[in-house]
Amino acid sequence: MGRFAAMVCPLCARNRKILSSRWKDPEIRWDLWNENNPLIQIREGGGKKKAEETSELFYPGVKPKRGSAPGAGWPTVETLTLAEAIEDAEYRKYILAMFEQIKKVKEIIDKYQK
Ligand SMILES: [Zn+2]
Repeated sequence: MGRFAAMVCPLCARNRKILSSRWKDPEIRWDLWNENNPLIQIREGGGKKKAEETSELFYPGVKPKRGSAPGAGWPTVETLTLAEAIEDAEYRKYILAMFEQIKKVKEIIDKYQK
């Protein structure tokens, strides 16, 4: 039986593994985003190509597995930085909602960090 501890992100409540009885402890990083990195990703796709459509091209003679076609998924076709997203009428409300949660988290940090 395995066991692990996960840490919940205070912004989105998703969790990530931090301690594990089975695997080397994964390094949890909070520094992967900065102001110059994309904050909004526009992705296009929807529906995987049939593996047979591309398998013969990339892997001639190999019987394809379902969903194994290269190009399957939702590739990013456009990104917006924070500076761009805050000025965009469609995305501004999401940025402001994120700011509100960050402010709440900051208040909690101030309470605990002395
Ligand atoms: Zn998060």
